[in-house]
Amino acid sequence: MSGPIYEPRGAAKEYGDYALNIYTGCPHECWYCFAPGVLHKVREEFHRHVEPRSILIPLERQLAKEDFRGKTVHLCFTCDPYPMWKDTTPTREVIKLLKAAGAHVQILTKGDGHRDFDLLDGEDWYGITLTGGEEYEEPMAASFMWRYEGLGAAHKKGIKTWISFEPVLNAEKVLNLLRTTRHNADRVKIGKLNYHPSDIDWARFGRQAEALCQELGLDYTIKESLRREMEREA
Ligand code: SF4
Repeated sequence: MSGPIYEPRGAAKEYGDYALNIYTGCPHECWYCFAPGVLHKVREEFHRHVEPRSILIPLERQLAKEDFRGKTVHLCFTCDPYPMWKDTTPTREVIKLLKAAGAHVQILTKGDGHRDFDLLDGEDWYGITLTGGEEYEEPMAASFMWRYEGLGAAHKKGIKTWISFEPVLNAEKVLNLLRTTRHNADRVKIGKLNYHPSDIDWARFGRQAEALCQELGLDYTIKESLRREMEREA
């Protein structure tokens, strides 16, 4: 595979078989952001210099050479496809190219994807991240309410919707969110907080979350890192 679409490895693979990163950084300034570490970038630099990567022509070439029909491409791992206060036209162009090639997209954002809902259909996924934390912990991202409003609008249009509860910053709040957001989410994925200390009892949280998902009849996935904690103390 040669081009901007790549196959994620390790834990990232749990999000999808294919992924594509559109921007060089992300302005949302989440304190727990793992991306600068992965990209070997200085954190401030990663949050301040957010430019579209030069991927449109290479993407066109890749889509002409490789067959992505029916495959789903995750947007994005090392950035947000809808960086707030930035021109997100590159994201729109990427989606157009992928859809024209017969691929589907799986969006995950803490920004605002409303402008591109006209490009998406019932084979695409629109997802938001909720951590149960406070808004100051993601100071430049869209408000929780606005993210959730976007999820509801996508759901109404027949686009498949999902919520990523990862990282989890407040276990009790995430359990409440599973209840209150379920009508607009076709699927939920639940993880933990990796790479940072936490006083959350992960095994207990994981069991409670799984029991609640089953009780509510949710389509859910427990991420492997959380599942390992649950099994360790079972
Ligand atoms: S939205 Fe994602 S990529 Fe952007 S700062 Fe937050 S964690 Fe990092």
